[in-house]
Amino acid sequence: MTKKTNAQPPKKFTGIKLTEIPTKAVGTKAISSALQHVFSEVGVIKGIGVLKNLNQTYGLDCPGCAWPDPDEKRAFLAEYCENGAKAIAEEATKNRISPMFFATHSVEELSNWSDYEIGKSGRITHPMILKEGATHYEEISWEEAFKTIGNELNSLASPNEAVFYTSGRTSNEAAFLYQLFVRQFGTNNLPDCSNMCHESSGAALSETLGIGKGSVTLDDFNHADLVMVIGQNPGTNHPRMLTALSETKKNGGKIISINPLPEVGLKNYVDPQNPLKWIGKGQELTDLFLQVKINGDVALLKIILKMMKQRELEQPNSVFNHQFIQEKTAGLDAFLEDLDKYSIEDLLPQTGLEISQIEQAAELIINNEKIIICWAMGLTQHKNAVDNIREVVNLLLLKGSIGKKGAGTCPVRGHSNVQGDRTMGIWEKLKPEFGKKLAKEFDFSPPTETGYDVVSAIEAMHKEEAKVFFGMGGNFVSATPDTEFTADALRKCNLTVQVSTKLNRSHLIHGKQALILPCLGRSEKDAQASGEQFVTVENSMGVVHQSVGHLKPASEHLLSEPAIVAGLATATLQNSKVEWNQLITNYDLIRDKIEATIKGFENYNERVRKKGGFYLPNNARDNNFKPTATGKANFTINKPSEIYLRDHQFMLMTIRTHDQYNTTIYGLNDRYRGVLNERRVVFINPKDMQKLGLKKLDKVNLISHFNNEQRTAEGFLIIPYSIPQQCVATYFPEANVLVPIKSKANISNTPASKTVVITIEKVTI
Ligand code: SF4
Repeated sequence: MTKKTNAQPPKKFTGIKLTEIPTKAVGTKAISSALQHVFSEVGVIKGIGVLKNLNQTYGLDCPGCAWPDPDEKRAFLAEYCENGAKAIAEEATKNRISPMFFATHSVEELSNWSDYEIGKSGRITHPMILKEGATHYEEISWEEAFKTIGNELNSLASPNEAVFYTSGRTSNEAAFLYQLFVRQFGTNNLPDCSNMCHESSGAALSETLGIGKGSVTLDDFNHADLVMVIGQNPGTNHPRMLTALSETKKNGGKIISINPLPEVGLKNYVDPQNPLKWIGKGQELTDLFLQVKINGDVALLKIILKMMKQRELEQPNSVFNHQFIQEKTAGLDAFLEDLDKYSIEDLLPQTGLEISQIEQAAELIINNEKIIICWAMGLTQHKNAVDNIREVVNLLLLKGSIGKKGAGTCPVRGHSNVQGDRTMGIWEKLKPEFGKKLAKEFDFSPPTETGYDVVSAIEAMHKEEAKVFFGMGGNFVSATPDTEFTADALRKCNLTVQVSTKLNRSHLIHGKQALILPCLGRSEKDAQASGEQFVTVENSMGVVHQSVGHLKPASEHLLSEPAIVAGLATATLQNSKVEWNQLITNYDLIRDKIEATIKGFENYNERVRKKGGFYLPNNARDNNFKPTATGKANFTINKPSEIYLRDHQFMLMTIRTHDQYNTTIYGLNDRYRGVLNERRVVFINPKDMQKLGLKKLDKVNLISHFNNEQRTAEGFLIIPYSIPQQCVATYFPEANVLVPIKSKANISNTPASKTVVITIEKVTI
């Protein structure tokens, strides 16, 4: 009987070093860090080659976040950020793991390695299988691998016993073929990483504005009077956004940042492209920083909305854009009435702020017309996440600050093609119109029943209602909540399959049988029968553009993602009329099918060959809200947080370090927070630390409390830090074990990883 492998990173410390917290971001430090990562992982010559192509027109699209590239001129030297360089270094690494590696290291041994060590082992070179009861992966042929999967899928009592997960790095072409295969197989079980990140944005924006995507373009930042950045840390997670904010400031705009943590990236920015700026304190970005309590956002926004209403009553037509409200919106009266139900006195404690600070913010909002509001996980991963985002929209609607230059919504996507995957149909809900188009184009009846999202897929596997897990990229066990519960769910599967470039913990937490299918990276040449192919992706602003790999593949045994789907489909589907192998000979053929079934892709192959690609239609950007239930932009009624802490309890939010991209650990440093060489830390307010009788670097356990259930994450070091009282922060995936599977956002079902109620227990050696 094989021993249970570790689903959590090992609870060992790595030798912490604390430094001063920097006062400025980017600059020469970012350049040296980027080059150090690339040259050590990839090598100097090859490294320079890959960087030269990164985010260049007709070059390679960064596999990091989804921040857009400039439409016009790209920076000659470097159209990428430090973390984009790290992302490509991870993929283009010269390290390889061959069948010999797997023969040497058992799955159990590997599961005792840290996520950093596992990830650094290199690119997987061959398809591998872990047979039932085996302790080591062994090599398998592609043909055998597809046959094994096909047999397992066809042995299921129902297609709904299989789950097909997608990570946001998957290209449009692969995502389209994948959803087609899954629907031809007979299910809509298409959970994706968006379920864990901006699903709440999609739900709120579709309801209020008629489209689940942001409305602004990159150029809008040059024209904005005011940019609000809420629950987002662009300095680490979307670094080139700092360039856009710098332009906003240069053009006279103001910036309000709202976050429980004073992130350096939003303080002072040093332009890495301008050596004259390298010396000195940098360009101040934030004009007003509101250090709000975790999940205090609706309370804060509601106070601001009440102040705007009060001012409008005192000075009619001085705040509200009545023409816009009249012509374009619905629900104003009910919304304004609801505001009266709340008093500022009751709401204020939830914010952790002084009223004077909020008044400053209200003044900036009242006195400016062109407002952009940006957000990320700090708004989307709460029980009332959808309320958070709808309240943001209420503010913009009152000002008529949407659908015009310099104004609008900006949910910043964290994965390079997560938005594209959703556009390609990767969703557990099949849109009827798309279903009809698929049926017509491919002559089959797509399933209409809503499938599993991430949380319901985990619950179904745990109840053994789902027996096969297929992961197109990603690191499911480390990205998801309730780590031990999710791990048990995966272990109960008959088969788990991971399409991956590199090793990660999800290869070590497996079903009775497991397969690893190694795919080409985005930086690598993708040669098919008709020649070298390019793929396409969609960024946060809805720009569809191409990405071309130019490196020699890490191994001759790799297949592209589209080719893997074609292999899977031909081995599984008996009666499919789709010419899978023909479609992958030339990806133009796949794009023709996308054009035939998805709105906005007219002349796809022609337009995507144009410089910079093309913008998809966006009704909110065009000031048209017809797709909503009322045919207008909707004001909504939203609730502040209803989570109340007892004295000894804390609200925990999970965050990333500066050396991390989702669950990929580039390094052990978090230099923007002054923490080096250690990931098992918890940031706490010094007063709270004292109250608990703790001191800096004391070792503690974190215990979460939910519905009389407790979950423990052992071994974290106390770091006194600037964070509101009764709020703490620590890194994921280490803290994901604390996030209960049933703790999730209303409507969107997104795991509430930013609102975890915990207590802290000192570890006495
Ligand atoms: S901002 Fe995002 S997309 Fe751009 S280079 Fe950096 S990680 Fe890549």
